[in-house]
Amino acid sequence: MNGGDSNAGVGAGTRLSVEQARERTVAAVAPVSGHERVPLSGALGRVLHADITAPADIPAFAASAMDGYALRAADLPGRDAEPRGFPVIGAAFAGAPFDGRVGAGECVRIMTGAPMPEGVDTVVIQEDVERSGDRALVGSGHVAGQHVRAPGEDVAAGSRVLPAGRRLRPADLGMLAGVGLGEVDVRRRARVAYFSTGDELVEPGGRLRRGDIYERNRYTIGAMLERLGVEARDLGIVPDDRDAIRDTMLRAAEADAVITSGGVSVGEADYVRELLEEVGEVDFWRVSVKPGKPLAVGTVRGARFYGLPGNPVSSMVTFYLFVRPALERMSGTEPVMPATWRVRCAERLRKQPGRTDFQRGILERDGGEPRVRPMPEQGSSILSSMSGANCFIVVPAEAGDVEAGTLVDVIPFDETL
Ligand code: AMP
Ligand code: MG
Repeated sequence: MNGGDSNAGVGAGTRLSVEQARERTVAAVAPVSGHERVPLSGALGRVLHADITAPADIPAFAASAMDGYALRAADLPGRDAEPRGFPVIGAAFAGAPFDGRVGAGECVRIMTGAPMPEGVDTVVIQEDVERSGDRALVGSGHVAGQHVRAPGEDVAAGSRVLPAGRRLRPADLGMLAGVGLGEVDVRRRARVAYFSTGDELVEPGGRLRRGDIYERNRYTIGAMLERLGVEARDLGIVPDDRDAIRDTMLRAAEADAVITSGGVSVGEADYVRELLEEVGEVDFWRVSVKPGKPLAVGTVRGARFYGLPGNPVSSMVTFYLFVRPALERMSGTEPVMPATWRVRCAERLRKQPGRTDFQRGILERDGGEPRVRPMPEQGSSILSSMSGANCFIVVPAEAGDVEAGTLVDVIPFDETL
């Protein structure tokens, strides 16, 4: 493998577009095998192992959707007719049904969620009823069947409630609870080991010598992993020492995936890519992305390996673009490309043609139209450009400077960032 530009087609040294790198990273990953049963209360963010089919209708019975009076549609006064009085023969509550049968010309006081008593099909809301003693006076203008929830209108028995591969969201937990499931089979979490490299790195709270900096990337990466719901294992800071990095890479490879930060470029203390070649295989390392080059994607002893750049913005952007979709696939859910929005740019964007640029911006709404403003500093070491932003402005590889007022593609930050 010669790693040069002349390497035709798909060699490890070929420079890939963002889309190619993304596809290739995802395609190399298989979902982890194994699943476990967890209580619903602990299932948020977990990935469903199998389709869930509804054993019964929701709602299971016809019920009132409002507080009011249940009666027969046939008894409703016709258009422009005089109001009609109905004797109120009982009351129906959620959890305390009315057990009798309602006859012609009669009605039952009914609350939201109460089963519709036998004999009635329509509810008139209490605001539309004049009540005097045990009679309810109902005027015209009502529609047959109104304010009644039909059995199965939310979920029909036998239908699919949720598909395998679904990452469970709050509404999904409600759906599973609603069909009576107190536990659910989810895929085991992908195990991800991560560490950073650099002689200059000191754990926050420690003492800095001249030239040292506080570790940042293990905190941003660890937090993004937490948001993805994987089982993350923090292997700490490893000095710029070949043997130490090699040992840690091999130890980390017991996990399903390994993420490193730093040491992946072409400096004299950058060993990660070389070591990946030595103890594993490099899939690719050159991507036309800014910030974010270079990185080293490959495999070590069956674990997927993602060597991210050391600059804090670059490591976050490459994690977001390439590692996240791969880990989603590994977790058993299909990654989706984040949606882009076309928004007018409030200021000029500076850019050199060549690489797809993920500038950090602030998407705002100034009166009418939404617009986006780039963060003033776009350097890959300027983490405040991520922290202070709420979106990426994606400028295509071939583009140069973008004039103010141009429509640009924007990806709002989601929960991972
Ligand atoms: P490297 O990719 O190792 O050449 O690092 C590029 C730049 O990112 C250097 O300025 C490093 O000091 C910085 N850097 C590397 N790793 C980290 C880290 N974990 N936290 C903060 N900055 C880092
Ligand atoms: Mg370094």
